Amino acid sequence: MALLKPFKPLDDKFPLERQLGIALKVDERRETSMPGIYAAGDLANPLMPSVTTASSHGAMAGIFAQQSMLV
Ligand SMILES: Cc1cc2nc3c(=O)[nH]c(=O)nc-3n(C[C@H](O)[C@H](O)[C@H](O)COP(=O)(O)OP(=O)(O)OC[C@H]3O[C@@H](n4cnc5c(N)ncnc54)[C@H](O)[C@@H]3O)c2cc1C
Repeated sequence: MALLKPFKPLDDKFPLERQLGIALKVDERRETSMPGIYAAGDLANPLMPSVTTASSHGAMAGIFAQQSMLV
């Protein structure tokens, strides 16, 4: 992971807060430091990367993103 670097064009456009170097910092609803932008999977899960957590967090991010558009 230490060899990985954030994708620069994305970083320039969306200067999102990170944790442990590369991973995007998200709250319990999987929302990043930029309101309306959600993240899931290895990109936002530096400590326990797995298919199961990526899938679970992806579902959460989708649901919370949808809810944010309804209220
Ligand atoms: C060798 C190895 C073995 C593993 N074994 C297991 C296992 O047995 N069980 C388990 O649960 N987990 C395992 N994992 C971890 C698991 O693969 C990951 O945690 C999971 O795939 C994360 O899913 P993701 O969707 O976050 O990322 P990924 O599956 O990596 O998907 C990200 C996708 O984004 C694409 N992408 C990247 N940059 C860009 C860009 N700029 N533009 C467009 N597309 C882009 C990539 O090509 C990729 O297709 C393993 C990982 C590795 C490396």
